[in-house]
Amino acid sequence: MRILLTNDDGILAPGLAALHAAVADMGDVHVVAPATVQSAAGHGITVVDPLVVERVHVDGRFRGQSVDGRPADCVKLAMRKLIDGPVDLVLSGINHGANVGINVLYSGTVAAAAEGAILGARAVAFSLEVGAEWDFAQAAGYCRAVLEALLADDLPPGKLVNVNVPRLDHGRPRGVRVARQAVSGVWETYRCFDDARGRACYQLTDDFGFTDPEHNSDVACLADRYVTVTPLHVDLTDTNRMEGLESLTFSLDAPTATDGGA
Ligand code: MN
Repeated sequence: MRILLTNDDGILAPGLAALHAAVADMGDVHVVAPATVQSAAGHGITVVDPLVVERVHVDGRFRGQSVDGRPADCVKLAMRKLIDGPVDLVLSGINHGANVGINVLYSGTVAAAAEGAILGARAVAFSLEVGAEWDFAQAAGYCRAVLEALLADDLPPGKLVNVNVPRLDHGRPRGVRVARQAVSGVWETYRCFDDARGRACYQLTDDFGFTDPEHNSDVACLADRYVTVTPLHVDLTDTNRMEGLESLTFSLDAPTATDGGA
């Protein structure tokens, strides 16, 4: 099995090293990851500037290639150009922080996996919720176990799964839950200050939370300390609204000019 490993926290991130250690025996593992931290990069790609690729030997633990671009750039470039032969499995993470609820849309970790799915690979994104302490090695063990179960069920090519591990400083996770992505509201805060030139600046803080997450959603289950498994698809079509829109009468003719009133 040819595996591509990537993330959005950069090739030197401890979560990536932990995931690498956990899956190294599963196949032919290639690491192509951003050269720098790309948090909340979403599914952006680089089109104006060229991408610089460098070989990296991370702490004597693994070798990989860094890309000075976005997470989705890494996967696109790796699968189109850097890796010989088709990639069977794209693994992204383990992200430093959960990717649940509406944050899934901002997540570079999920976007990297989504890019892999778009290009025909099986794809899984892994994230670890923020806690007082970080144990990526422990989290990676859970990620491996979930991955084994997914692959045993013959995860089809082109399918995307989002996995989140709850904070581990409150104890071992209670179990695994398959959960919907929450779409309830969020609250967030900006820090306001003037820069040296007196210009108004606003910085998003990490003081952030979810309001009334749906029962059994990824947000709710993660808060209950379950590992969450959420199948995602990249089709953004709102299928329920198709019929309503199809019943409308659309015209490409410009509206007839009137006298303009007044
Ligand atoms: Mn990240």
